[in-house]
Amino acid sequence: MDLMDKIVSLCKRRGFIFQSSEIYGGLSNTWDYGPFGVELKNNIKRAWWKANVYQRSDILGMDAAILMHPKVWEASGHTANFFDLKSDCKSCKKRFKTEDLKGKTKCPECGGELTEGRPFNLMFKTHQGPIEDDANIIYMRPETAQGMFVNFLNILDSRHPKLPFGLAQIGKSFRNEITPGNFTFRTREFEQMEIEYFVRPEEADKKLEEWIEYRFNWYLELGIKKEGLRKRPHGKEELAHYARACTDIEYSFPFGWSELEGIANRTDFDLRQHSKVSGKDLVYFDEVKKERLTPYIIEPSGGIDRSVLAFLVDAYSEEKVKDETRLVLKLHRDLAPVKVAVLPLLKNRQEIVDMARALTQDLKKSFITVYDDTAAIGKLYRRQDEVGTLYCVTVDVQSLEDKQVTVRDRDTMKQDRIAIEKLKEYVSDKLNK
Ligand code: ATP
Repeated sequence: MDLMDKIVSLCKRRGFIFQSSEIYGGLSNTWDYGPFGVELKNNIKRAWWKANVYQRSDILGMDAAILMHPKVWEASGHTANFFDLKSDCKSCKKRFKTEDLKGKTKCPECGGELTEGRPFNLMFKTHQGPIEDDANIIYMRPETAQGMFVNFLNILDSRHPKLPFGLAQIGKSFRNEITPGNFTFRTREFEQMEIEYFVRPEEADKKLEEWIEYRFNWYLELGIKKEGLRKRPHGKEELAHYARACTDIEYSFPFGWSELEGIANRTDFDLRQHSKVSGKDLVYFDEVKKERLTPYIIEPSGGIDRSVLAFLVDAYSEEKVKDETRLVLKLHRDLAPVKVAVLPLLKNRQEIVDMARALTQDLKKSFITVYDDTAAIGKLYRRQDEVGTLYCVTVDVQSLEDKQVTVRDRDTMKQDRIAIEKLKEYVSDKLNK
C-alpha cells in the first residue's frame, strides 16, 4: 500500500477524515473532519493565530462574511480573470485543465479528440434571495483576502494602526476546481489562513523576504522535517493577475512537491481597485511625513486542509518493535489531538475503573484527555499511538495502594511511575517544554 493510501485509511479508521455523504455513495472530492480531525485542524488554526496575532503587536484579527457584494469581485478582477482553461474529451467526456495537458492534443485517458481550451471561471455562483435572476447573482468567496481589503477604512478608523500592520483571518473559501484530487489537497470547499500585511511601497521587497522566512519557520517549529519543505519562487508567467512576486512554500507530499502556502507581493492593486470601483478613498495618512499613500500588501496565504495533510504525512511513522510494526503519529505536542489517555489495566476491578475515571475527569480540566477500557492494554496503546496521543496513563492494582500511575511517553515508549498528585505538573512541564 502506498503512503497516501495508508494515510487515507488511517484517517477513516481512527476518525480523522471521512468521505462526505458516504452513505449516499459519497460526494466526490469532498471531505468531513471527524472527532480527531477537527481537533488537529483547530490546533493548527490556534498555532497559526498565536504566532501571527497574539505573539505579534502589528497584526489584528478579523472574520469577514463569506458572501460579499458582487462589485467586490469586479474590482478585484476575479469576475474577469479568475479563470482556468479546460479541455473536454469528445469521446469519453473527461475534463482536463488545459495547462496539465502540456500541449497534448489527444485525450490522455482514451486517445479521443480534445476540445480547444475554454475559459472556466472558478467562482461558485448562486442567487441571493428568492428570485433567480442576474440582478441577484452572488458568489461564494474564492479567497478570504477581499474581506480584509474592503474593511481597510473600518480598521483604520476603529483601531488606528500604524504602517506596517496586518490583518489576519481564517475561513472557508470556494473554488470550482476543474481537477480536484489527492485526498484533501485540492478540493472545491477549503479553509484558508491569510494575512494581508500593509507596508510602505519602498519596504515591500524586504517585508516579502521577511514573511517568507517567518512562515517557512512556522512549519519547521511545528515539527515538519526540514528535508520535506522548500521555497519555490514563481516565474513571471505563473504570477496571479494581482501579484508582482510570489514564493510558494512547498511540501514533499507522496504525490510530489506541492504548494502549502503562497507568499505574494500584491502591490497596491487591490486597494486602488476598490478605491476606483467603490468611490471611497482607501488610503493611509502618515502623520509623521504628512503624506497620503496607498500601501503595498504582502500576503502570506496558506490552506488549512493542506496543512492538516502535510502534518499527517510528516508525522506518520512505522517502527519495528520486537516482531511487530508500531504505527505512530508523531505529531508536535501542540498539534496532537489528545494529550493524555487514561487506561485502566484491569477493567473488571471496580476500584481501578473508578480511580481511572476520576483521574480522567480531573485531567480534563487541564488537558484534552480521553478514557478507554474497551480492549487489552496492548491494543489500547496501539490505538492511542495511531492518533498521536502524547501520554498514556495506566492505573493498576498497585495504584490503589501507592497512589501512583505509570505514564508512557508516545515517542520513546519510556515509562515513568508518577504520584497522582504530581501528575498534572508532570504533564504540564512536558507540554510547555
Ligand atoms: P494551486 O496552484 O495549488 O491551485 P493557488 O496558487 O491557486 O493553489 P492560492 O490562490 O495562492 O492557491 O491560495 C492560497 C492557499 O490556499 C494555497 O497555498 C492552498 O494552501 C490553499 N488552496 C488554494 N486552493 C485550494 C484548493 N482547491 N483546495 C485546498 N486548498 C487550496
